[in-house]
Amino acid sequence: MTATPHTDPDCLFCRIAGGEVPADLVYRSDELIAFNDTNPKAPTHILICPTEHIATLNDMEPRHAGTVGRMFLLAADIAREQGFADQGYRTVFNCNRLAGQSVFHIHLHLLAGRLMGWPPG
Ligand code: AMP
Ligand code: ZN
Repeated sequence: MTATPHTDPDCLFCRIAGGEVPADLVYRSDELIAFNDTNPKAPTHILICPTEHIATLNDMEPRHAGTVGRMFLLAADIAREQGFADQGYRTVFNCNRLAGQSVFHIHLHLLAGRLMGWPPG
């Protein structure tokens, strides 16, 4: 059995996690990074990613459960720190083509600062 590589040299978000591509970082640990989206869809639009390369939600394994849980804990921490936790915010994972996933390294969108439509487009 071949081990799954934990980083992909051709992946934009692996390169951001590795420091090769600059980003406007909001948070960094060995496990997670968070940075401002360069094409924001709301006044606040932050992406939260694992440093490990996981292409889509379909590629998650049971061992990733803690990491994904901590992505949501981090979203709530950032919301409190940036002062929009009580007002409200949205967290979104897009998976594959019909959901509009464009970067194939999982990331949690954290959106805030405007009224969010429902259902999402
Ligand atoms: P998705 O379409 O769900 O895969 O989300 C990818 C997100 O990454 C989009 O909101 C893009 O605006 C954002 N994005 C693409 N390149 C960069 C970058 N270099 N730094 C920060 N955000 C980026
Ligand atoms: Zn990656």
